Amino acid sequence: MKVLVCGGAGYIGSHMVRHLLAQKHEVVVFDNLSTGHRESIGEAALIEGDLSDAKALQALFAVHRVDAVMHFCALSLVGVSVKEPYLYYQNNVAGTLNLLQAMRRANVDKLVFSSTAAVFGNPEYELIDEDHPTRPINPYGASKLMVERILADAALAYGLRSVALRYFNAAGADTFGDIGESHEPETHLIPNVLRAALGKGGQLRVFGDDYPTRDGTCVRDYVHVNDLATAHLRAVEFMSTHDGAHVFNLGNGQGFTVLEVIAAAQRTVGTQIAFERAPRRPGDPPVLVASSKRAREQLGWSPAFTDIERIIETAYRWHCLPRY
Ligand code: UDP
Repeated sequence: MKVLVCGGAGYIGSHMVRHLLAQKHEVVVFDNLSTGHRESIGEAALIEGDLSDAKALQALFAVHRVDAVMHFCALSLVGVSVKEPYLYYQNNVAGTLNLLQAMRRANVDKLVFSSTAAVFGNPEYELIDEDHPTRPINPYGASKLMVERILADAALAYGLRSVALRYFNAAGADTFGDIGESHEPETHLIPNVLRAALGKGGQLRVFGDDYPTRDGTCVRDYVHVNDLATAHLRAVEFMSTHDGAHVFNLGNGQGFTVLEVIAAAQRTVGTQIAFERAPRRPGDPPVLVASSKRAREQLGWSPAFTDIERIIETAYRWHCLPRY
């Protein structure tokens, strides 16, 4: 199979590319390298470009006859999305429309879309399934939900087949240790904890300790990037027998507080990790934990990394690389 991976040089995309190549699929990466890394895509073909460039997308499909598209390109920082909503809607919604229109012209009818737990907003019950109301509380989540809606409309109007995968907290790194999560500035918890442990980052801050949770800090469901990659491949297989637009939640079904993540990292690293308590970060819901029952039942997906320490250990190996 030949797969176009948009955003294939980024954190989750590069793990996807490696997984596809390992399964002997042909991979074309489309990436503007704004946050991604050229060296992360192995022997996949790279087309450097931006989703705002409709002509570049058309040209790509004219040259490459792909069987499916996986779409990871997005701006994904909640805080920035609140300050720069136009930027987020332009990139995440208008950019995706360019991609969808180019796919339609080229008769490519299968898309796996990176969605997010941020489509739900503040959870109304504990284990969030796909039927949970979607009321995003920031432009990032809203931009992803808009695309989900567009995909549902496109299924009816044009017969586009799609699977939107709503990731909870992507974490960890490939077990080879040579690709991983690297953003500048880094905002995510596990990389920040590991940077602090290695003395490579600034002061670790815990945002908010007065949430209604067991220790007052936010609870999240951490799911390994390689498990996300396997779900994408399952999603493409699923589309060969199912038409329409589908959504699936992807997580481990187990929540950890920020302090529990720090404690698990301390056990992995073997040292104390200093942190300071800081005010809540705007836009953070107190608890986000997935029910992935539907993905398990319908996609036949089951995460291989279910232990938080093991997930952190894979990330730690990547953070220990000298070049990082
Ligand atoms: N967090 C924190 N310190 C950090 C980064 C994150 O306390 O340096 C908290 C954040 O407020 C949230 C949780 O860790 O409650 C997970 O945040 P992350 O940015 O990793 O993922 P998100 O849930 O925002 O997608």
